[in-house]
Amino acid sequence: MKQTFKLFSLLVIGAVAFTSCKKDDSMAGGEEISSATLSKISSHGFGTSNVQKVEDGYLVEGDIILTENYLNSVPGGNHLRIAENEQYRTTNLVNGPRTIRIGLDSKLAALPGYPEALQMVASRYDAAGIVLNFDYVTSAPYDIIFVSAGGNFLASAGFPSGGSPYGQVKVNTRYIGSGTSSTFVNFLATILAHEAGHCIGFRHTDYMNRAYSCGGAATNEGASSVGAILIPGTPSGPDAGSWMLACIGQNQNRPFNNNDRTALSYLY
Ligand SMILES: [Zn+2]
Repeated sequence: MKQTFKLFSLLVIGAVAFTSCKKDDSMAGGEEISSATLSKISSHGFGTSNVQKVEDGYLVEGDIILTENYLNSVPGGNHLRIAENEQYRTTNLVNGPRTIRIGLDSKLAALPGYPEALQMVASRYDAAGIVLNFDYVTSAPYDIIFVSAGGNFLASAGFPSGGSPYGQVKVNTRYIGSGTSSTFVNFLATILAHEAGHCIGFRHTDYMNRAYSCGGAATNEGASSVGAILIPGTPSGPDAGSWMLACIGQNQNRPFNNNDRTALSYLY
């Protein structure tokens, strides 16, 4: 059986949660999430299973941080639908055109493969021809800084606010590792580009059915039926390559596919 790397899921807690038929999903790390908070999470269209309290807010869908400010804002946002299995739902967007300076903290900058991967992230977004111009920079100021972090996730990010991207991506190098092979650099670039995707407002492509990329039982991560915008001219069949799928196989590479580029240029 192919090893599925729960990239954007909780590698440790998630593995337990997916195999133990855990009844009380509102408990995570021993800390109970209040029903008022779960209700806010739900009203923003997110599933309330495996919610985890983290330093900056609440972690949902394995790698998305919802801050208190976000939860207290009025739910809304666009909901783009491309093809049957791809749902590019966005929340807040970044005001463009603008340059987004992306960089690494000193720990990540010293790890083999990380500078190359982040440069590749900038190149991928720039090649998409959108109004957001990604620049890989090696000194402050940063619009999005990727920092080394621990925790029960492989990486995490949040959504834009006030027209600016979410400013920090946490990267758990203990789980992801490092290396200079082109396979690893492409894999890492896919992870970092995915997190940057959240920072500019993208949700998981398969949030309607997480089983699509993660395997296991079909799980609706909190899709709502309001405001769907079906983009004309896009394929109706499944497309397994989106960079915003919730899970990824180890060493997979997901550069933007045609649907991803359509969604990117529709929004930006
Ligand atoms: Zn994600």
